[in-house]
Amino acid sequence: MSLGPIPYGKQHITEEDIQAVSVALKADYLTQGPSIKAFEEDFATYVGSKYAVAVSNGTAALHLCALALGVEPGQKVITTPITFSASANCVRYCGGEVVFADIDPDTFLIDLAKLEEALKADPEIVGIIPVDFTGLPVNLEKVRALADAHNCWIIEDACHAPGGAFVDANGAVSKCGSGMYADLAIFSFHPVKHIAAGEGGMITTNNEKLYQDLLRLRTHGITKDPNLLHENHGGWYMEMQDLGYNYRLTDIQATLAASQLTRADAGMVRRREIAKAYDAAFANEAKVGIQTIPDEAQHAYHLYVIQVEDRKGLYDYLREHQIYSQVHYIPVHRMPYYQELGWKQGDFPLSEAYYDRCLSLPMFPTLTEEQQQFVIERVLAFVNGQ
Ligand SMILES: *Cc1c(COP(=O)(O)O)cnc(C)c1O
Repeated sequence: MSLGPIPYGKQHITEEDIQAVSVALKADYLTQGPSIKAFEEDFATYVGSKYAVAVSNGTAALHLCALALGVEPGQKVITTPITFSASANCVRYCGGEVVFADIDPDTFLIDLAKLEEALKADPEIVGIIPVDFTGLPVNLEKVRALADAHNCWIIEDACHAPGGAFVDANGAVSKCGSGMYADLAIFSFHPVKHIAAGEGGMITTNNEKLYQDLLRLRTHGITKDPNLLHENHGGWYMEMQDLGYNYRLTDIQATLAASQLTRADAGMVRRREIAKAYDAAFANEAKVGIQTIPDEAQHAYHLYVIQVEDRKGLYDYLREHQIYSQVHYIPVHRMPYYQELGWKQGDFPLSEAYYDRCLSLPMFPTLTEEQQQFVIERVLAFVNGQ
C-alpha cells in the first residue's frame, strides 16, 4: 500500500470547519463583522494576552508592528538570520536597517550572548525581533533584560509557536504571544502553520496604546471612535489620522481560523507525540543531529528539524520515496536582496553551517504513525548507506 506523498506540513480541514465557513458566507458581513472580534477574543485568551488584532497575513502583522513602533530611516533592528525573510523585511518596509546576531548551534535560536554583544557595540539598534524558530520559544525574559538595558522594544515573531511557552525565573509560564515580556507578538494563519485560514495573521499585545494604533493602521489609518476624532460633522464622520493600509482579515477567514483554534490543544498533543517518536528514533544515531531543547521551554513543534552531513542527498532520496521534506531556512543575509545591502557569505558562520545540514521532516497532526515510521526508516536507511 502506498503511504505517499508525505509533505513536511499540511492543513487539516474538518466538516465542522466547512460548516462554520458556510454559516459565515450567509451572514450579514463578509469582512469586519462580528466574527473578527470573536476570533480576536478567542485568540487572545488562547495565548494569554490582553489584546489581539486580526490582519490579512503574518507579513502584514510584522509591517504594522514596525509602523506602530515608529521604525524609520536611520534606525536599526536586530533579528536572526535563520528565519523567514518577512521577519527582517518589515524593518525595510519602514526604511530601517536590518542587522543580525548569529544563532546558537544547539537550539538554532538567536544566540543571546551575541545579541548582547551587538547591542553593546551599536547604540543605533532600537528594536529586537526574536523568532520562536521551529516552535521553540525564545527565553523572552532574558531578551527583555537586554532590551531594557539598551532601550529597545521587542516584536516576538511567534509564527511557529502558538501554544508554545517557557517557564520564567519565577516559575511563571509565559506563553508565546502573551505579551508578558514582548511589546508585540505576531502569528500567521498560512496553511502550513498550526492554524489555517487560507491567509491570515494576528498581532497580540498588552499595550493599549499600541492596540489602538494597530486597529487604525490596519484599515487605512481611519477611526470613527468619537473619543478620538479631532472634529465631528455627524453620523457619517470619520477621520484618516495616519497613513494606514488595508490589512484586514475577512470574516470568512476568521470563522475558519476560529473553528481551527478549537482543535489547537489536540493538535499540540499530537505534534508533541510525533516529536517524541522522532527523538526516540534519532537519539542514538550519531549521523542525525537533533535540536537541543532548554529545560524551561515548552516546544510548539511547527517544524521538526534534523541535521545531516549529506543534506541534499537525503532531500533527493526522500523525494524519490515521495517524502517531501523542506529546508528552513536559507539564511536571510544570503538572499540577493540583503547581499546588495552589504551582507555576505561568512558574516554569520553558525547560521551558514546550520543551513548546510538542516532538513525539516514531516510534522503535522494528521501524519499517521505508519507514515512517520516510513519516514524514520528511510532517513536511517539513507544515513547508514541504505
Ligand atoms: C510564515 C511566517 C511569516 C509570514 O507569515 P505570512 O502569513 O506567510 O505572511 C513570518 N515569519 C515567520 C517566522 C513565518 O514562519
